[in-house]
Amino acid sequence: MRRIEHFIAGESSMSAHEAWLDVMEPATSNVVAHVARGLRKDVETAVDAAAAAAPRWAATSAPERARLLHAMADGIEATAESFARAESIDSGKPLSITRSIDIPRAIANLRWFADAAVKACQGTQRFDSSHASNEVLRMPVGVVGAISPWNLPLYLLTWKIAAPLAMGNAVVAKPSELTPSTASMLASIAREVGMPPGVLNIVHGLGPEAGAALVEHPDVAAITFTGGTETGRSVNQTCAGLFKKVSLELGGKNALIIFADADIDAAIDTATAAAFANQGQICLCTERLLIESSVYDRVMEGVIERARAIRIGDPLDAETDFGSLISIAHRDRVEAALAGAIADGAHVCTGGKRPINLPDRVSAGAFLEPTVLQGIGMDARFNREEVFGPVVCAMPFADEAEAVRMANATDYGLCATVCTQDLERAGRVARKLDVGTVWTNCWLVRDFRVPFGGVKCSGLGREGGDDALHFCTEARTLCSASNSTVDASGAVPTGTHT
Ligand code: NAD
Repeated sequence: MRRIEHFIAGESSMSAHEAWLDVMEPATSNVVAHVARGLRKDVETAVDAAAAAAPRWAATSAPERARLLHAMADGIEATAESFARAESIDSGKPLSITRSIDIPRAIANLRWFADAAVKACQGTQRFDSSHASNEVLRMPVGVVGAISPWNLPLYLLTWKIAAPLAMGNAVVAKPSELTPSTASMLASIAREVGMPPGVLNIVHGLGPEAGAALVEHPDVAAITFTGGTETGRSVNQTCAGLFKKVSLELGGKNALIIFADADIDAAIDTATAAAFANQGQICLCTERLLIESSVYDRVMEGVIERARAIRIGDPLDAETDFGSLISIAHRDRVEAALAGAIADGAHVCTGGKRPINLPDRVSAGAFLEPTVLQGIGMDARFNREEVFGPVVCAMPFADEAEAVRMANATDYGLCATVCTQDLERAGRVARKLDVGTVWTNCWLVRDFRVPFGGVKCSGLGREGGDDALHFCTEARTLCSASNSTVDASGAVPTGTHT
């Protein structure tokens, strides 16, 4: 059986306690690998390695750091098919998606932050007066802990590590224990391209063990976390006690609002994609579909028809659109939420069952049909809690004010989509929605430069663009009677990181 080890100080290593966890292929329910079960001791070794490597890495010029990140991106690109396959096997998502989204985006993450950091390190902010000259440096914080989930494994891992590495920090990453393969493949590439030992470390294991030990470690200056809201709450509490920088990207209960004046066919396409992409397991997926009453029946007919046409199948078959959920345990949770909705009066318009007639190879997998519900209101539990599966609940609304009220009636605030041809209305509604991102007539369109994140229980802080570069650095103001400067290459002196 394949064994996935930690990557610490540039070397693969077993857990100090030689403990292993099973890695399942969710589409088949077969064990496909064993992954090291990291414990506190392993995290301590990794943080020590990172702390030892950080000063020299911070003193390395930004272009040289960027060169190594681009070399890692090249390494993924050269073996992209192996990455796509490994991601599909670990997660149950179709190969068509890992090939077209997950792996290309992971490559782009490394490249974009590599280049952005070079630009950011080229110039420092200056504020001069007749009395003094102020220069603001962005100093790397030292060791950054990056904790990532299973739904976009390499995509989110690279999103979290690229900015800290590019800005001169050492990183200890803790990928999801459910999807460890591509992180381990990335570690091999880091070694091959000559990333200095200790700059990037990967410790595998369970959240409450390896993850919690990383968050609690006093030498980890900042934690960037993506995952569930309850986990985020506990991460936040620990970080608060240690005055640690923390960025939290958490769950959502996102609404997609279709006004009667929308391009209805396009809105139906957008709604179907937003509800069912990645089997509904993207934090930005739509779980509440709000439709203006006068077009409710027409939209529902279209969404139901599109949902039924989605090709469910073996994720490794290139024709498959829709694979398995991440695990049998997660499918149980989604089915429990579905049963709760039905008990509260929901009607299943389509889906709601485990698909039959799947190919033999995947007949024991964690599959659930794309499901559309209606008939329950905003007070139903289903419409308030994140489900994170392929189930969307439709509700009619009478007017703009009611749509906004319904969309905001949740503890979450990650994103929303508004479908309308009236762009004045789109702007007005967007300003009233209590979320981090509002899309108009589109969904999941992402630009690296824009801030990304949520409000309320969807998170704390912003990632992307300058926000990501600022998160992993501290501003240091140099106030002087005379002009001072830093090395134009972006290198910062050794021994100055905290
Ligand atoms: P999760 O919270 O269970 O786990 C996320 C990561 O945290 C994993 O690596 C896990 O091992 C680790 N972890 C678990 N307990 C921990 C603890 N006590 N201390 C430290 N680390 C711990 O989430 P998940 O089930 O892997 O992912 C699904 C969730 O992630 C959903 O709620 C989804 O909305 C959210 N998510 C949010 C975004 C975003 O950008 N807002 C993106 C993707 C996923």
